[in-house]
Amino acid sequence: MGDARGRVAAGEVTGALISEETIRLVRERTDIQAVVSETVKLTRRGRSWVGLCPFHKERSPSFHVTPERGIFHCFGCGEHGNAFDFLMKTEGLSFPEAVHRLAERAGIEIEKDRSPATRREEEAARKLRDDLYAILALAASYYERMLTEHPHGRLALDELARRRLVPTSPTDTIATALQSFRVGYAPAEWAGLAAFLRQQGASPSTAEQAGLLLPRSAGGGFYDRFRNRLMFAVMDLQGRVVGFSGRILPDPQTGIIDKESGKYINSPETPVYRKGELVFGLFQARQAIRQAEQAVLVEGNFDVVSLHARGIRNVVAPLGTAFTAEQAMAIKRFAPEVVLLFDGDAAGRKAVRAAREPCKKAGLVARAATLPEGVDPDALSRERGPEAVRAVIQASRGLLEHLVAACLNERFTSASAEERAERVREVVALINGEDDPAVRAMVQQFADDVARLLVQRDEFLGKVDATTFRALVRAVRAGVARPEVAPSPPRGEVPRDPVTDEVLGILLDFPSLLNDIEETDWSCLRGDAALVVAVLQEHDPEQDAEKFLANLPTSFQSFALQRLAAPVYSDLSTARSQLEANLKKLKVRSIEQERVSLKKEVVRAGQLGDQEAEMASLREIEECFRQRMQLRSRRAGGAARR
Ligand code: ATP
Ligand code: MN
Repeated sequence: MGDARGRVAAGEVTGALISEETIRLVRERTDIQAVVSETVKLTRRGRSWVGLCPFHKERSPSFHVTPERGIFHCFGCGEHGNAFDFLMKTEGLSFPEAVHRLAERAGIEIEKDRSPATRREEEAARKLRDDLYAILALAASYYERMLTEHPHGRLALDELARRRLVPTSPTDTIATALQSFRVGYAPAEWAGLAAFLRQQGASPSTAEQAGLLLPRSAGGGFYDRFRNRLMFAVMDLQGRVVGFSGRILPDPQTGIIDKESGKYINSPETPVYRKGELVFGLFQARQAIRQAEQAVLVEGNFDVVSLHARGIRNVVAPLGTAFTAEQAMAIKRFAPEVVLLFDGDAAGRKAVRAAREPCKKAGLVARAATLPEGVDPDALSRERGPEAVRAVIQASRGLLEHLVAACLNERFTSASAEERAERVREVVALINGEDDPAVRAMVQQFADDVARLLVQRDEFLGKVDATTFRALVRAVRAGVARPEVAPSPPRGEVPRDPVTDEVLGILLDFPSLLNDIEETDWSCLRGDAALVVAVLQEHDPEQDAEKFLANLPTSFQSFALQRLAAPVYSDLSTARSQLEANLKKLKVRSIEQERVSLKKEVVRAGQLGDQEAEMASLREIEECFRQRMQLRSRRAGGAARR
């Protein structure tokens, strides 16, 4: 949850920096339980609320929300954070967006210091955006309606039928997918939408700015941009329609597809639609992407809708443009990994190569899956079912490995000498372009293996002049910079002690107990556990859980986070007596350890004939004994402390 703080500066994107003070105020006035309840059904359990985690698949609830601490935590997948984090993770909002959303909820004005002129400008821009959203929503409902109401809507329905996207009930996955993408029909008329919008009293110039209408070159007036097309609505992450993508349909009169006009027409860039940033289907796919911890990127609109309709819902597409770093970042908000599921043709292979850089920039792990040539995911799912698509996704490889394999494929040996040299150079470049030495070493190994297999196979088939070929393989090896593999030190898990954990856990439930116990009683805590108490004395988790957590030794951070998110004790006096009992256990244990080492000391001193040391140790053993007896009598005395 600490990472939210680092993003405060990003507040600038909304025009002005949001002050720390405002952020604090918003956090204070936000009831995280209410915020989470909008997406997750929560039921009370002690001091926290529990529900099914929205970040991973689960049957029994392990997702905890603690209103008093303002935090959430999932014991299943480890997702955690505050109300801002929750919105950022579930809705893909940026930090400033999340602050704005919660500020609005809490009725807090975000004060910004802007000149009246900029304020007027901003207000005008916001007004225009609102108008554009409204008119785009109007258009979406028009296209949807035309699918069933227009006499030629059948053309679009036929196209859907050709894809076997025909619902058998109004609530099956096909119907749901078609609705969620707001699939519709743009009639083959010059002014179908234009007339409808006029009738609705919408401004044609706003419709033009929304990319829906175009001005006539002569005589004034406007005409429809999308005509005789199967329409897909393009939505932003909040589900607002920001544009459209329309696929060509056969001419209603001739039944012929006009090869002259493009197969797809997409909305132009507008103030509400930035092409390089928007990912087609991300709004509909975001929950599934989060749960699968993986997104699947396909090329076509139909691939997206078709897979959604067949139950594979973590699927998105770049919408006609080349995949950009901004799009990769948008996906990264929901999952760390993307599988590229592109056509097996040359264009598809090129697109896979081109996706490497943007993924790298966004820190999105990229994998690639190979489709049979000439088969797109839509066709595959239609003909062989979603399982076939799942199998292909399952068989995906790391992007680099995939690209190397594509260079050294079975056609390598039959290629001309120049082409082979070119391919080898490409492999070398691919491997050298990888920054991570461990990955580089792995891919190098992989390239070696593939090359060796090729040599063996083609020597066997008598297809290759082995000497020249070996030279090429050597070239791969020589061209690749030596990978220095830095062995990562094994991260030793600190073994946990249940009694210590119980003591610290109770203190996290009721930090005030810290004042009830004598200072010296903490002396039985060792190492990091003692540090935790020190941090507790310094920072009150009730006041500022984030600061408290940030100061903890790392070995206790996740433990503390989990305990803060889901306190165990709700009754103070029970907690106090449990604390005392467990502290006593620790003390007995430490006395016992002391006694054992003293006994060794006695033996050692005896062997050396050091009587003085022997006597001193024996006296200390006696003291241990006395302390233990004292502890026992305290226990017998029940609540009689101190
Ligand atoms: P189909 O299965 O009907 O051929 P598709 O959706 O699979 O359609 P592709 O030809 O694979 O489409 O193209 C992939 C994507 O590229 C399309 O979904 C569309 O977003 C975009 N696209 C294709 N052709 C054009 C075009 N002429 N102009 C703009 N964008 C296009
Ligand atoms: Mn297709």
